[in-house]
Amino acid sequence: MKRIGVLTSGGDSPGMNAAIRAVVRKAIFHGLEVYGINYGYAGLIAGDIHKMELGSVGDIIHRGGTMLYTARCEEFKTLEGQQKGIEQLKKFGIEGLVVIGGDGSFQGAKKLTEHGFPTIGVPGTIDNDIPGTDFTIGFDTALNTIIEAIDKIRDTATSHERTYVIEVMGRHAGDLALWAGLADGAETILIPEADYDMDQIVNRLKRGQERGKKHSIIIVAEGVGNGFSFGKEISDATNMETRVTVLGHIQRGGSPTASDRVLASRLGAKAVDLLIDGKAGVTVGIQKNELVYHGIEEVLSQKHEVNLDMYKLSQELSI
Ligand code: ADP
Repeated sequence: MKRIGVLTSGGDSPGMNAAIRAVVRKAIFHGLEVYGINYGYAGLIAGDIHKMELGSVGDIIHRGGTMLYTARCEEFKTLEGQQKGIEQLKKFGIEGLVVIGGDGSFQGAKKLTEHGFPTIGVPGTIDNDIPGTDFTIGFDTALNTIIEAIDKIRDTATSHERTYVIEVMGRHAGDLALWAGLADGAETILIPEADYDMDQIVNRLKRGQERGKKHSIIIVAEGVGNGFSFGKEISDATNMETRVTVLGHIQRGGSPTASDRVLASRLGAKAVDLLIDGKAGVTVGIQKNELVYHGIEEVLSQKHEVNLDMYKLSQELSI
């Protein structure tokens, strides 16, 4: 293998830049040439491809977002789109590709592999919802952004003795809500993976109020439902003054945490090692602090599991 490509696709996440940097530097370290593909699969089809040098990835390790930009591309879901992409890769003499993104992007990587093009997936998403890795690039940063926001909300919640409902990202995975809730001592955490009982939530809030609790924090993953509807339901049922904050896209931005930078550097470099070793059709990950890789097909056929022991613990700690 003499020349590889790298792209970021789907939703961006903090740390993607650190992963791009690792791919470029590790490849050049091993004497390969690296081409960056802008705008994910859309840029691949369009041939928006350029050579990257050591200096191309200078001064980006600490920046959120992705210097290669990202996009969603319906055309790449078609065979014709995939063939156009492969033609471009061949035109530029690229022999292997690193795709940094979430499970949608991995579907595209799987298709490239099925068409015989060596592709490696690097998990970049704030949702932490990719099987085969304990953590995805961006999760830790998003989590810390949420914590910082909740700490601030907590100050005003205490001053005004209010109940706060905070909606965080996570359409299908409750990891952000669960970890943030546990880290911030939330009274209630609602995640898509677990049923909830509104009567129980209301009773817990009332018990807290009777004990003289000054505020309550309820964290809702967006996949469970709309934060504003929960806020209304709770204020109707408890008569407590309730406010709702939807954190939205601030969760996707910002300078990556040290943990995400290190994870991205390790996973990006591992992807290059695997391509050099002739591996293809795999995704990289970290499990029990060891770098691992799994077949992309296997990863996509599994369902991400939230840590239900942690969920139980959060309930035990918020009696
Ligand atoms: P994420 O990677 O963050 O989960 P998306 O689900 O939006 O983001 O997927 C990103 C892109 O991956 C899509 O816009 C499309 O180009 C490509 N993709 C998704 N699913 C498929 C598929 N089944 N086949 C080929 N490409 C796909």
